[in-house]
Amino acid sequence: MTLFEPGVGRVDIESGQLQGATNRYVKTFRDLEGLYEDEAALAAVIAEKGDAVAYEVTDYKPSANAGDIIIGVTRMEPGRIGREYYLTRGHIHARPNRPEMYYGESGVGVMLLESPDGQVRTIEMRARTMCYVPPFWIHRSVNVGSEPLVMTFAYPADSGQDYEIIAKAGGMRSRIIDDGNGGWKAVDNASYRQRPQSLVDSIMALTD
Ligand code: ZN
Repeated sequence: MTLFEPGVGRVDIESGQLQGATNRYVKTFRDLEGLYEDEAALAAVIAEKGDAVAYEVTDYKPSANAGDIIIGVTRMEPGRIGREYYLTRGHIHARPNRPEMYYGESGVGVMLLESPDGQVRTIEMRARTMCYVPPFWIHRSVNVGSEPLVMTFAYPADSGQDYEIIAKAGGMRSRIIDDGNGGWKAVDNASYRQRPQSLVDSIMALTD
């Protein structure tokens, strides 16, 4: 067995980055097509700032080995597309029985979780809130505040990400919108299609 060196990173709240990261990727507003109910509002945002960064991930990835861990930081801009808040694409882990941990650094967000059979949970994230994303839950983060949302995360290195599970269902079951009263609320996504039980069963059987 090869020994790895210990790693260190510093969470920079201002930039929303992990200093010392080995990996970085960004999603622009143009990358978020198809995620929002108000397509005209999204088109207007893309016309105005399509290539601007909507959210960014910097992480420290020692390896992809089973039993190893990936740690990192995500930063998301505040704002809305129509009545919906800015959000990440969301995913289930390609090995769906892998969990994840999120820890709020700054800003106010919502972790939107959905089980393959369509149960929905929401966890409000603030600085020093820790969220356990259990195995088998689809997860997406939403910035419901007026400042950048910065969170630290950690997940098993062999988890992988599957984004198609959301697209194939017409999106996640719930949308997080402005409640018109200074807060947020979850409402039904009219485009959502319940997964067939056979598909749910096949996902829940993936336990390696
Ligand atoms: Zn994840």
